Amino acid sequence: MLVSLAAVILSRLALAAQAQSLSDNSRAACAVIQQALGSTIVQSSGAEYNATAEGTWSLFNALDQPTCIVYPQRAADVQIAMKNIYHFNAEYAVRAGGHSAMIGWNSVTDGVLISFEQMSNVSYDPATDIVSLEPGVRFGDAETVLEQYGVSIIGGRASDIGTGLLLGGGINFMSPLYGWSADRMKEMDVVLVTGELVTASATNEYADLFRALKGGANRFGIVTQYRVYPAHTGTRDDKLWFGGSVQYPGSSSLALLNATAHYIRDVTNPNAGAIMIINTANLTSPTSNTLFFFYKGDSLPWSIFGEFLCIPSTSQSLSPLSYFDITFLIAGNTRVNGNQFGASAWVGDDAAFLNGFNHLLNFTQNFGTRLVEASMIVSPIPLSQWEASLSGPNAIGNPGVSYGAINWDIVYPAGETERPQDIDDGVKLLISQTPPSPGLPLYVNECDASQDVFATYPDYPALKAAYAKYDRTRFNVEYTEGPKGL
Ligand SMILES: Cc1cc2nc3c(=O)[nH]c(=O)nc-3n(C[C@H](O)[C@H](O)[C@H](O)COP(=O)(O)OP(=O)(O)OC[C@H]3O[C@@H](n4cnc5c(N)ncnc54)[C@H](O)[C@@H]3O)c2cc1C
Repeated sequence: MLVSLAAVILSRLALAAQAQSLSDNSRAACAVIQQALGSTIVQSSGAEYNATAEGTWSLFNALDQPTCIVYPQRAADVQIAMKNIYHFNAEYAVRAGGHSAMIGWNSVTDGVLISFEQMSNVSYDPATDIVSLEPGVRFGDAETVLEQYGVSIIGGRASDIGTGLLLGGGINFMSPLYGWSADRMKEMDVVLVTGELVTASATNEYADLFRALKGGANRFGIVTQYRVYPAHTGTRDDKLWFGGSVQYPGSSSLALLNATAHYIRDVTNPNAGAIMIINTANLTSPTSNTLFFFYKGDSLPWSIFGEFLCIPSTSQSLSPLSYFDITFLIAGNTRVNGNQFGASAWVGDDAAFLNGFNHLLNFTQNFGTRLVEASMIVSPIPLSQWEASLSGPNAIGNPGVSYGAINWDIVYPAGETERPQDIDDGVKLLISQTPPSPGLPLYVNECDASQDVFATYPDYPALKAAYAKYDRTRFNVEYTEGPKGL
């Protein structure tokens, strides 16, 4: 008994000593980085510091207090920050748009936060037909700059999302036509863990790093510049698409699920795009389902969307739309709730969708009264989405079959700053009850941190090999939160 008590005390002392040394390390790193870059770029308190620390989309990340926040203005600033983070063994995190739903993936306490607010330039060169993006850009802001040239980048489906999306893959309403957002990348400037700056592309000596960055999330370095092949989507006046949202009552959920499974199985036309948001708990209004449908043309073809359009809806907002209009249909900028994601992936099999929905209902019966929303969000991933790649394969890996990427989206009440353990356990149970169909990759931008996403990539060994090559001391996995499995 005495021996085990002594062991507990010793292990607590060891943990306390480790925490002390981590905060000493980050203080030392911050002091040296501030000396090099000055107190405007490196801050440890004040209004700007507070706004950044509290500015995450998920409230669960807004309570972290970084030892300092570095606001780089150029790649060289990131190099200085990273060299010192590495030298002093300091914990760190990187922030672009701040939308990560995973605790600690874009925030840190007792560590250095690199936040890209000061690097948000967007430019388009018509001669080369390339868009250059700094990492602090949000997709709505990029669209506002680019539409006058008739081009756009294929970003997220909410205007407030930032460029972190590109490193996870990136699903857009138009991805069936234009591909994964990351697959339109020409090259990326990347600061490696040691502080070295390299440019990675599909054809240069860093081609393995380039591929790993397209789905490897925050594990392969800090990107300081993206150069992207734009899509020629027209200006804000070019209403090349038809579509919008349709609202359905909760009583339509089963019919919508069946229609969704059929859509995923049967629709191969790359001009069609959709997302299905099936909601089982909503404390703020009656439960309802919201689906978005788009078609590059002047109407929604009945052969593609007919099954959905036959289901009685409560309201519809469908009209001719430009790509610009579509970018701003969803803002996604609410910052008062804690959020939690989970991921799965199913082929278009009615039984898989029904199983998933029943488990979500079960979860909601247990916890729904304590949540704002519990939703199943389905993003169809047809084969055309992989075939559209302009820059070779990405790290996620084409499974050779159309499927739906499933996002469990759990929204906690406003102001609730901690995730209750029993609900977190419930989410993990839901995830375990609804596994991906065999051979399908999970989507890292929509997962729970407990999920081993990289292990589901068909070419997982290549990702691990790239990680071993570019982070020989395994610094990133030791000193920053992010996807597991490397
Ligand atoms: C409201 C909402 C809507 C969404 N809609 C979509 C959608 O339509 N399609 C889709 O694919 N996904 C969507 N997502 C998921 C989204 O892709 C991820 O949340 C994405 O990672 C957000 O990027 P960010 O820059 O806003 O967030 P951040 O939290 O700032 O970044 C996300 C991750 O990337 C890392 N990171 C960011 N920038 C860099 C960099 N320059 N170098 C290295 N690491 C970096 C961060 O450390 C963090 O781990 C949505 C999320 C939300 C909350």
